[in-house]
Amino acid sequence: MKRIAILGSTGSIGVNALKVIDLHRDRFAVTALAAGRNVGLLKEQIERFRPRVAAVLDAEAASALQALLHGGVKTEILHGQEGYRAVAAETEAQTVLSAMVGAAGLIPTLAAVEAGKDVALANKESLVVAGEHLTAAVRERGVRVIPVDSEHSAVFQCLEGQRRDRVRRIVLTASGGPFRRLSAAELEKVTPEEALCHPNWRMGKKITIDSATMMNKGLEVIEAHWLFGRPYDGIEVVIHPQSIVHSLVEYEDGSFLAQLGLPDMRVPIAYALAYPDRITAGVPSLDLTALSSLTFERTDGERFPCLRLAYEAGRAGGNRPAVMNAANEKAVEAFLSRRIPFTAIPRVIERTLETVEENARPTVEDLLWADGRAREIAEKIIRGISS
Ligand code: NDP
Repeated sequence: MKRIAILGSTGSIGVNALKVIDLHRDRFAVTALAAGRNVGLLKEQIERFRPRVAAVLDAEAASALQALLHGGVKTEILHGQEGYRAVAAETEAQTVLSAMVGAAGLIPTLAAVEAGKDVALANKESLVVAGEHLTAAVRERGVRVIPVDSEHSAVFQCLEGQRRDRVRRIVLTASGGPFRRLSAAELEKVTPEEALCHPNWRMGKKITIDSATMMNKGLEVIEAHWLFGRPYDGIEVVIHPQSIVHSLVEYEDGSFLAQLGLPDMRVPIAYALAYPDRITAGVPSLDLTALSSLTFERTDGERFPCLRLAYEAGRAGGNRPAVMNAANEKAVEAFLSRRIPFTAIPRVIERTLETVEENARPTVEDLLWADGRAREIAEKIIRGISS
């Protein structure tokens, strides 16, 4: 029996992971769950999976959850950073699925690694913010990080059993999002509803907007840099609108290895949870004969500058990726609440990066400080744009 803790159980990844676990109750036990404020869904998850511990964002959510649970439930309800730490590090879980959204996932993910847990990593922002610290902790503790992000799961699978020093490049595929064909002028006018309509994937709001701006691919480039130890010049992005080829690795002999499948997150989640085994994910087979074509296009840095910003921040290193990530989180929130237009998202990020002091060798505390500072600056810039 593999014991699993889930950070972000009420999100899109968390819910899909519990669907996979539900298919394999003889194989997985859920020891701990953490969510933000969705206590209604968390209550149902607790009653079904009976974890030892559950944690929510604050005391108010904890008492709301406690009031919903019936007397027979023995799960200990905790809250705040201490609660998240308990879920990540203090139960008998062997694998922690890190699936909170945003930089909020960093400290619990780090706590899981430091406690010697293997991590199934969906929360890409934690590697973007503190890739150097997180990978150092992974090395020191000798734990495994298995990527959940479909692209990185694909690359991970294409690297299995191969010589890393024979890799020529990693090619991450991107669907291009809902606005792939829009002109710069048309992008000015897109609404949150349109941006939330991803053509191929059903995901949480933040990553759906990141997919529309291409920042998601930028975050993934930085994630790939840390996960696979590759220089930025050896990580490329191509648009692949069908989202069937999840990513590729090219080797010295000119061979490309690719991983293909339907765009359904239960596949990489099942792989990460069962690794090195393969188990059913509850997903139908891909009918190859029903595919009319698989196409690949270049990215367009003029209309979608976020990818370029992420390469620049990744290459610059230090606190730059953390600042970029925090500014992006603020800008996405501001777009979703209709305070700024879609095309202002990269502008907010760029101006925040210009304003926040650089730090080439930040500690984790410095990175958290930079994250807070970037949010303040980004908020000022957003106010300037929206007034
Ligand atoms: P969702 O928005 O659907 O879910 C986010 C989860 O995090 C929820 O459980 C939410 O709790 C919780 N949460 C939100 N804010 C906080 C906070 N401040 N502190 C603690 N918990 C919080 O996100 P997704 O599931 O889409 O994405 C999760 C992560 O996985 C992201 O990093 C994303 O980039 C990555 N990912 C997602 C994919 C997908 O298909 N969805 C694909 C690849 C990667 P609540 O709702 O209870 O408030």
